[in-house]
Amino acid sequence: MPEQKTSVGAEISDTRYDPQRIEEKWSARWQQQPELFRAEPFDSPRPKYYVLEMLPYPSGALHMGHVRNYSIGDALARHMWMKGYNVLHPMGWDAFGLPAENAAIKNNTPPRQWTLSNIAHMKAQMTRLGFAYDWSKEVTTCLPDYYRWNQWFFLKMYERGLAYRKKSRVNWCPECATVLANEQVVNGCCWRHTETPVQQRELEQWFLRITNYAQELLDDLERLPGWPEKVLTMQRNWIGRSEGALVDFKLDGPAGPAGDKIPVFTTRVDTIFGATSVQLAPEHPMVTDLVSNDHGLRTKVDELMAEQRRAKEAGDVGEIEKHGVFAERYAINPFNGEKVPIWVANYILMDYGTGAIMSVPAHDERDYEFAKKYGLEIRIVILPRYERAGPGEEQQPVLPFTTTDSLLINSGPYNELSSEEAIVRMAKDAERGGFGKAAVTYRLKDWGISRQRYWGTPIPMLYCDHCGIVPVPEKDLPVVLPENVDITLTGGSPLAKVEDWVNVKCPVCGGTARRETDTMDTFVDSSWYFYRYTDPTITTGPLDPKTIAYWFEIDQYIGGVEHAILHLIYSRFWTKVMRDLGLVANSEPVARLFTQGMIIKDGAKMSKSIGNLVIPDDMIARYGADATRMYTLFATSPDRELDWQDAGLEGISRFLLRVHRFFTLEREAPAEPQPADRRVLRKLHQTIRRITEDFDGRWHFNTSIAALMELLNLVLEERSGGETEKHASMSAGALKSFQRNFVLMLHPFAPYLAHELWERLGEKSNLLREGWPQYDPALAKEDEIEIVVQINGKIRDRLFVSADSSEEEIRRLALAAPKVQATLDGRQVVKAIVVAGKLVNIVVR
Ligand SMILES: [Zn+2]
Ligand SMILES: [Zn+2]
Repeated sequence: MPEQKTSVGAEISDTRYDPQRIEEKWSARWQQQPELFRAEPFDSPRPKYYVLEMLPYPSGALHMGHVRNYSIGDALARHMWMKGYNVLHPMGWDAFGLPAENAAIKNNTPPRQWTLSNIAHMKAQMTRLGFAYDWSKEVTTCLPDYYRWNQWFFLKMYERGLAYRKKSRVNWCPECATVLANEQVVNGCCWRHTETPVQQRELEQWFLRITNYAQELLDDLERLPGWPEKVLTMQRNWIGRSEGALVDFKLDGPAGPAGDKIPVFTTRVDTIFGATSVQLAPEHPMVTDLVSNDHGLRTKVDELMAEQRRAKEAGDVGEIEKHGVFAERYAINPFNGEKVPIWVANYILMDYGTGAIMSVPAHDERDYEFAKKYGLEIRIVILPRYERAGPGEEQQPVLPFTTTDSLLINSGPYNELSSEEAIVRMAKDAERGGFGKAAVTYRLKDWGISRQRYWGTPIPMLYCDHCGIVPVPEKDLPVVLPENVDITLTGGSPLAKVEDWVNVKCPVCGGTARRETDTMDTFVDSSWYFYRYTDPTITTGPLDPKTIAYWFEIDQYIGGVEHAILHLIYSRFWTKVMRDLGLVANSEPVARLFTQGMIIKDGAKMSKSIGNLVIPDDMIARYGADATRMYTLFATSPDRELDWQDAGLEGISRFLLRVHRFFTLEREAPAEPQPADRRVLRKLHQTIRRITEDFDGRWHFNTSIAALMELLNLVLEERSGGETEKHASMSAGALKSFQRNFVLMLHPFAPYLAHELWERLGEKSNLLREGWPQYDPALAKEDEIEIVVQINGKIRDRLFVSADSSEEEIRRLALAAPKVQATLDGRQVVKAIVVAGKLVNIVVR
């Protein structure tokens, strides 16, 4: 697309800052030398550094959030190159997904063509922005040379029982016309269509057994100190481990096809003598048996089921108004042989625990509420410890009483035990008695990956009339997506309509078979793409283990916090599977994670519908790429929400203009030392120290850039005499040192201008490989200042302290000075007032 230039009148001269001219010149040079940004092979003698930004979905154009994310990563990559590392800084495309299908319908363009042309455009935008990517490592997930390995991994997981098919109730977005994973349901709505309530449907689906790794996924969070605490917490909650016991209640009377056992999961088995009912989810298999001969009951259960579904669809199942119905049957508590009524209740979920609970109204909030409503018995079986401490009659605790710091009563042989002891002993007794055991449950569910969509990785499975489910043989991979498919967003998988693709010979019996017509969730693609970057053209396997061993773990991953539980859990799971397949040695993919804040404007997240979008191309055309990038780093620290202000970008643009003018104005500087040298060099080395520490520490690039501005201001001030006298007050040596180091520090933030100025300084070396400046602590040190010490208003001593001493330090030095000590002579110091930079006034009694 044509670049819009805004040359504002003035003729082009060497001294005018013209970002378009400078940036296009350097962009052309860099494109002619792509090897500049290439990583060296794994036998490089340099230490490695793998810096990665999350790959974008090729929607057609970069937005400002992308620019911010990539500007952070690019600053870091350039800094690490300058520090001598072998840097891997790749980029790719998360190229499957529904928008390509929507566009295909709207514009009558095949998804592949639409996607690839978007990629070409966005790549050109990235190039214009000057991001230093190693394009020889580019990965495009919608191409067969990539997705064949998704299929390969799927077959490996199927062999190991980690991929399986089952009929299940699934989340269905009517807008997407496809299934959503639990992780893609947000407040009861689709994660892409936040206004569209998710429906429940029953379908045959492929699942990946991520729950096999639930405990390891949880435990290994401890090994990720380089991850933000909020992400660790979100993952911990998502995995949702709870410890407790499974206890089998037995159905009293005749059993149906669902058997006679009702396993319940409880975290409070110590209260089981207080169980006064068992409650089943409406979808519990036994409910079908219980209602089979009772039409009235069946109607009531159907109502409960409908209420629960509506609550799920509205996303507030936690706040559902609790309803239930007595199932006219009883279950036997295995601990005391007591018969308790069985209820069916709308707030019990089939996909949590076992879909059945024991109800202990005295010691559980929800059970209490339910029992009060339906007049069920409430029996106290634990009391607070202190209630039992002294003699006298028992007091009634306020119900429901739920603390674990308690002792058991009314619990047969377990009376007087503490709750902690009872929980352990009762689980053991249940196991010994054959009616239960200690157990752990997780909120994390297996990952449903089937999508009834076209633009995704075909699942490499066949259905033979004779043999049943048959995996596609590895030698027949990839199963390539057919072209020219009629896409509609209704009526299930578009691939099902491509007869000559669907109908195949069974590789086992030679009979007729049909291909699986669902495609994989696109989160499969992004679960392992960063491994493929290390060697994207390898055909003997998904990756080369030796290369992986060198580059992994990823040293720094940068992306949005919205991926805290989807992508970042799936990719941790995938890594553990790859490790167990013997492909990689690492158990975690990412050593350090950084989540950047989002960009808002006029108080809202930027979006087309609100009309507050700032288009990167417009900003580049007006201010240049350097200014646009630098502004996203300068406006606030990278982890915080950025409130876009056009005036802020203009300010950065003016700063770059001043930098450019300073470096392009001819000036004479004397060879001999000048009065300003010391001040300029001190500020210079303080700035180097500050920016180096920012890179090593918390990435406060906003303060780094502010430090560069201060440094330039000081130099301009020192030279302000120069405007009239035409002579610098700095020596040639100090000027040169300032100029070189300033450009080196400017480079990660404004790479185009930095390269231009480097060349202008007569430097021949490649700026990207030029060493990061070292600060000299002696030069950075502030000078000493004289401090007068008074005692009760009389001058008693003078000391010289470093000008950057703290108040506390000055006070301590003053009190310790020998003449002061002599004058004090043991008298009591009432206070010692420090007047910054001048004196200490000691008041004594
Ligand atoms: Zn949707
Ligand atoms: Zn067959």
